[in-house]
Amino acid sequence: SSAISIRGLCKSYGHTEVLHGIDLEIARGATTCLIGPSGSGKSTLLRCIAFLEEATRGTILIDGQPLGFEERPDGTRLRLAPPRIRKVRSGIGMVFQQFNLWPHMTALGNVTEALVTVKGLSRQEADARGMAQLRRVGLEARARHYPSELSGGQQQRVAIARALALEPEILLFDEPTASLDPELTGEVLTVMRDLGQEGMTMVVVTHEIGFAASVGQRIAFLDHGRVLLNGTPAELFAAP
Ligand code: ADP
Ligand code: ADP
Repeated sequence: SSAISIRGLCKSYGHTEVLHGIDLEIARGATTCLIGPSGSGKSTLLRCIAFLEEATRGTILIDGQPLGFEERPDGTRLRLAPPRIRKVRSGIGMVFQQFNLWPHMTALGNVTEALVTVKGLSRQEADARGMAQLRRVGLEARARHYPSELSGGQQQRVAIARALALEPEILLFDEPTASLDPELTGEVLTVMRDLGQEGMTMVVVTHEIGFAASVGQRIAFLDHGRVLLNGTPAELFAAP
């Protein structure tokens, strides 16, 4: 079965509907890129999968489990109990365009904060797990540096390590390299490719088609709140 099943997903802001019934299956253990023009709804769709936004209609199943809401055949929507929402939501990690690191914390502090405050790990356990994740993104030697002492590419790798430390089954990326100088996107791309090789399920919003073609096994093309095309890079970019 799919890692994520999106069925009939609609999202409105006020009276304006911006997602018009998205149906999309996200394959397990693969990287799916969401591409499309600015304003087509890529970020909104990703934020719905992250449950940072609530869809107006339709359902999202994570590993077969409904995220946030269950929709009955008659169209009524039932909000699930908070523990059940948290359980499904905890399998999903997110990486943002602007890194969103805490400036007053070291790289290691950023990675371990939620392990201590949310997961209840001891400082010692959290540091051990945090260092392992920093090693995974090639930043062990920068553990004691503050974000302002790191390049943009290094900051984004810290943000990836922070997401990984919570052991997600699915990682979502919203324009992960859009804030980076071109020479720094390569190091983030390398980390993402490594994760892909390890079998991580990833969904990546990007407006850079070259990036999508080099990191994605599946590409979904959105336009005006609809999925117009969905396939492998070879299928999408093949000459007619
Ligand atoms: P993309 O990521 O493809 O650039 P978005 O998902 O950011 O597209 O936006 C899709 C549409 O929804 C756009 O018309 C945008 O202006 C609108 N939109 C996004 N977020 C909000 C919001 N918080 N309130 C109102 N409209 C929004
Ligand atoms: P993106 O394309 O990555 O969503 P934007 O600059 O379009 O980036 O949006 C940045 C933030 O502003 C997002 O949180 C989005 O939800 C919000 N936003 C986007 N469009 C609108 C809008 N028309 N009205 C209100 N908020 C918006």
